[in-house]
Amino acid sequence: MRGQKQCDKCGTATGPRTKVCKNCGQAFHFNPVSKEKKSTKMIRNFPWRDLEEGDIIKTSGGPYFLSETGETLPMGCRGKHKVIGLDHKGILAWGLGTSNGFCHIYMGKDDEEKGSRFVKTKHRVHKLKQKKGV
Ligand SMILES: [Zn+2]
Repeated sequence: MRGQKQCDKCGTATGPRTKVCKNCGQAFHFNPVSKEKKSTKMIRNFPWRDLEEGDIIKTSGGPYFLSETGETLPMGCRGKHKVIGLDHKGILAWGLGTSNGFCHIYMGKDDEEKGSRFVKTKHRVHKLKQKKGV
């Protein structure tokens, strides 16, 4: 409906300049946030071993490869993932979006293999949680 908006809480259509829903009293925000921002919450500090199958996580960092010229080439799993399960060294997950495919998200301790330029270091993981009632 042009010029009208709907109450988030009860669905009542109201005029564009209404500040409070006439039906339920819900206050309106005039700068609508994106749907994803509105319906998901990012949890930064949590024990990764508490993750369960189906949880959505966002990862960054992780293992990297040191090139001869000293550049670091990221080898980790980055982006959004759906958790399949856990093992003793990390998270088994399915990549969503650009990084699709199966991956193992390393969460173990830092470990530089001798004679190798491959540096194992754990990922940073954020959990994306659906807000209740959405
Ligand atoms: Zn309402």
